[in-house]
Amino acid sequence: MAEPEITTEQITAFRALIRTANRIVVFTGAGISTESGIPDFRGPNGIWKTQTPIDFSDFIASEDVRRESWRRKLSGDGMARAEPNAGHVAIARLVELGKVSHIITQNVDGLHQKSGVPDNQVIQLHGNANYASCLDCGRRYELTEVREIFSDNETVPYCSECSGIIKTATISFGQSMPVDEMERAHHATAACDLFIAIGSSLVVYPAAGFPRLAKQQGAGLVILNNQPTDLDPICDLVLPYQIGNTLTAVVD
Ligand SMILES: [Zn+2]
Repeated sequence: MAEPEITTEQITAFRALIRTANRIVVFTGAGISTESGIPDFRGPNGIWKTQTPIDFSDFIASEDVRRESWRRKLSGDGMARAEPNAGHVAIARLVELGKVSHIITQNVDGLHQKSGVPDNQVIQLHGNANYASCLDCGRRYELTEVREIFSDNETVPYCSECSGIIKTATISFGQSMPVDEMERAHHATAACDLFIAIGSSLVVYPAAGFPRLAKQQGAGLVILNNQPTDLDPICDLVLPYQIGNTLTAVVD
């Protein structure tokens, strides 16, 4: 049986919502990037079912743990090779048309930027896995630099400026959410006139909080996700379809 697809009526309804909106917030979760071959870590086949995630406090406390963390990161980093898919491209088109104020993402793959969205319009709640930074002074390190250091007998890298601990620029288990990003996400959501949530089950906070906030402020709400979510009942449009095809049909 063929997968269900967006109906003509739904395309018309979605386009009407986009047409009348000027400050859209697009919220994306793992579902959009699985179509680029990036596994959903938390999903049923996710890596965390077989490999225990490293807790932030352990990473800070132990050089051995940091070594193990870099070993995992630098061996087979499929994320660095992943390319944006039709879903990312359609969203980038909406940004280009001036319709979107911000993209809020739970993903750390940087694929929105890779699809051409300016960095300052992407709010990364969980950071970015495509580079590293010093936990003390914030200096940025490219993974190629880290790889070079680590390739010498698994040497754990430290900051050349301040000797601080270097870590991929992601938010780990046990690490608090970035205050700036959370604040920007909150402001963008409060100011939006249409909130489009894509590829997220919207179960975990803060993810679940943003669409509710948008709706409370009078914005339209569209959810595009292959599974039902708890917020479906308060939506203007619920689209339980594949992401790339659906967005392409609407935006083209
Ligand atoms: Zn430093």
